[in-house]
Amino acid sequence: MRLKADWLEDPRAQAACALLVDAGAQAFFVGGCVRNTLLGTDVSDIDIATNARPDAVMKAAEESGFHVVPTGIEHGTVTVVIEQMPFEITTFRRDVETDGRRAVIAFADRIEDDALRRDLTMNALYAKPSGDVVDPLGGLQDVLARRIRFIADARARIREDYLRILRFFRFFAWYGDAEHGLDAEGLAACTELADGLYQLSKERIGNELTKLLQSPDPAPAMAAFAQTGGLERILPGASAKDLGALVQLEKHNRLAPSATRRLASLGRTDFRARLRLSKADAKEVDDIQTAAFSTRLPAEIGYRLGYQTAQDALILRGVYSDAQNLPKDIAAAERGAKATFPISAADIMPRFSGVELGAELRRLEAIWIASDFTMRRDALLSF
Ligand code: ATP
Ligand code: MG
Repeated sequence: MRLKADWLEDPRAQAACALLVDAGAQAFFVGGCVRNTLLGTDVSDIDIATNARPDAVMKAAEESGFHVVPTGIEHGTVTVVIEQMPFEITTFRRDVETDGRRAVIAFADRIEDDALRRDLTMNALYAKPSGDVVDPLGGLQDVLARRIRFIADARARIREDYLRILRFFRFFAWYGDAEHGLDAEGLAACTELADGLYQLSKERIGNELTKLLQSPDPAPAMAAFAQTGGLERILPGASAKDLGALVQLEKHNRLAPSATRRLASLGRTDFRARLRLSKADAKEVDDIQTAAFSTRLPAEIGYRLGYQTAQDALILRGVYSDAQNLPKDIAAAERGAKATFPISAADIMPRFSGVELGAELRRLEAIWIASDFTMRRDALLSF
């Protein structure tokens, strides 16, 4: 099988391979770029695997006049930038020792070894610079059938790195065949080894879960993940039971996927501590939930939180109540988001100052909101 894609024909991608081949080494495209091209979906970055050692890669790239960054040189990765386009070039590796979180690695000479240290069969596909697919482990059949399978023994793969539990569900959410469901052996292994999730850093969990939740429809994957006991281990108190309904409403209302909105549907739990979310993202989740479960009118939610967050809150509210009025409510939120409070501190100074100034501003603002944002400045000031 031969790949056909714009990125493959890009002279820069060919130049990245040529610098290795000209130095007498092998060059293969690997990972997401090969997988996604076979699936017909977008390619985000281009990874290259080679038998050349990192120092030789750096030397060859520098001699070709390209900018080189030793991004992860101790585990074999060098980034070569060719006319603004970055390529991650990684030397073939094999795992020497693993503890479920990180691996001690050694460089390898054979592509088969490099393939064996990866997680899923669909992620162990390579392509020559010509585009010819190289498939050391039989991943091609799996990717074409949208089967998400661990390489060889699922339990062994998971014990090497427990993040692979989450990756199994993430890749299913993005590329799996929902009709066929998850691979039974993989699922059983995830259930059996779910306690391993406790060993992972919160950052890695947060990153991986975020990617899962950004997929078009994460509901089936999350339901299965919850069933293995994984969800309660990474987010105690969370539940995936409302996610499906949320995704349906999103589709109806043509909303793009959003990780924070979908997190908000999982219930109240300490997302910031558990997932090391950024302060802004954690606040976003909290705002969505608080507004969704409040009795605030849609227009006020829009005014207070802005259109985007208000929309998310209203969609979530729709999951628990009547969603018939959602388009109307979202329009009201948009109106609220565009409204500007016509009074500023200067208008009521020096009559008010300090704490009282703030209190008076809030009093007038409440009156203005109650008027559905219609009251003018003069009328308000006479209140
Ligand atoms: P994308 O970049 O589109 O998210 P990708 O598959 O290229 O997908 P990367 O994170 O760039 O993802 O990883 C590149 C490759 O490295 C993967 O395809 C996989 O083969 C391997 N890989 C990444 N993380 C792991 C892991 N935790 N365990 C095993 N292999 C991994
Ligand atoms: Mg990649």
